[in-house]
Amino acid sequence: MTSTIADRLLDWYDRHARALPWRAGPGDPAPDPYRVWLSEVMLQQTTVAAVKPYFASFTTRWPTVAALAAAPEEEVMAAWAGLGYYSRARNLVKAARAVAELGGFPETEAELRELPGLGAYTAAAVAAIAFDRRAVVVDANVERVVARLFAIETPLPQARKQIRAAAETITPDARAGDFAQAMMDLGATICTTRDPKCLLCPLAGGCTARLQGDPARLPIKAPKKAKPVRQGSAFWIERDDAVWLVRREGKGMLGGMRALPDDGWSAQADGSGEVPLAGEWQALGRVSQTFTHAQLELSVSRYSGKASPRGEGEWWPLAELESAGLPTLFAKAARLALA
Ligand code: SF4
Repeated sequence: MTSTIADRLLDWYDRHARALPWRAGPGDPAPDPYRVWLSEVMLQQTTVAAVKPYFASFTTRWPTVAALAAAPEEEVMAAWAGLGYYSRARNLVKAARAVAELGGFPETEAELRELPGLGAYTAAAVAAIAFDRRAVVVDANVERVVARLFAIETPLPQARKQIRAAAETITPDARAGDFAQAMMDLGATICTTRDPKCLLCPLAGGCTARLQGDPARLPIKAPKKAKPVRQGSAFWIERDDAVWLVRREGKGMLGGMRALPDDGWSAQADGSGEVPLAGEWQALGRVSQTFTHAQLELSVSRYSGKASPRGEGEWWPLAELESAGLPTLFAKAARLALA
């Protein structure tokens, strides 16, 4: 069964692989590990369509890992703005610097794991795709395919260990990178969440969930806990066609990112509601965003007094606001202020 699943899948991949900017085609020489790593980090929690323009702009601006290692962290953070999960961008810079110091990417999963911020998934993906090392690569697409192939009834996330063990049994020794990408492609294009196209699937013959008749019910997901809703404020202070921007503290939500001043909200607590300057404030409306640990509702106000902001910050020209690298939440607040 092991070789059959891998053989059928690789045969299908040779004909149907998605062409993606960070990929080498089936059977081609291994792609640049920098491009593989960068794309895998960007693709976590994000779609291929959303990643493509960021990948193009990063690889144009920083074509090698050494170039990224030499970039100021603030510039990388600003270029990352809009992709979310900003700790990834901070870790990206740290890992690039570690790789540059080593003189290149290590090739094994274990060594890759030692790089800052490289989790089990990314290390396995880079080892397999860039270095053709046998590694069990399990992302959400692969999780779905494997849960169905083996009809795993344990709900996620508890099922992860079982899914990984099952994935291990079908991972071949040869063409490990192509196999990993073939599984991802099958999950993304054929074994989709709501509407698996079993008639087109190369693995249909060995798929237990299909034989049982209702593959779309798998994987079962444990009900999600409701996220706490946090309330906070953001402040728009404008003067001479410029707006006052600050840099958020390095740790915590949106840490290290350029931002509008706020009232101290975090994932753990509401903001104080206090305005940063005495004078007239006009309520502009509310914006909201869902983060990993909380949903944030932000009221946005505009200052129309004469006092100057205290503390560290910078007047950013309104005409160049696009290049400030504001994360999505503050970009929404800015749109409200400029509407
Ligand atoms: Fe998914 Fe259907 Fe293929 Fe099974 S047969 S892996 S459920 S697409």
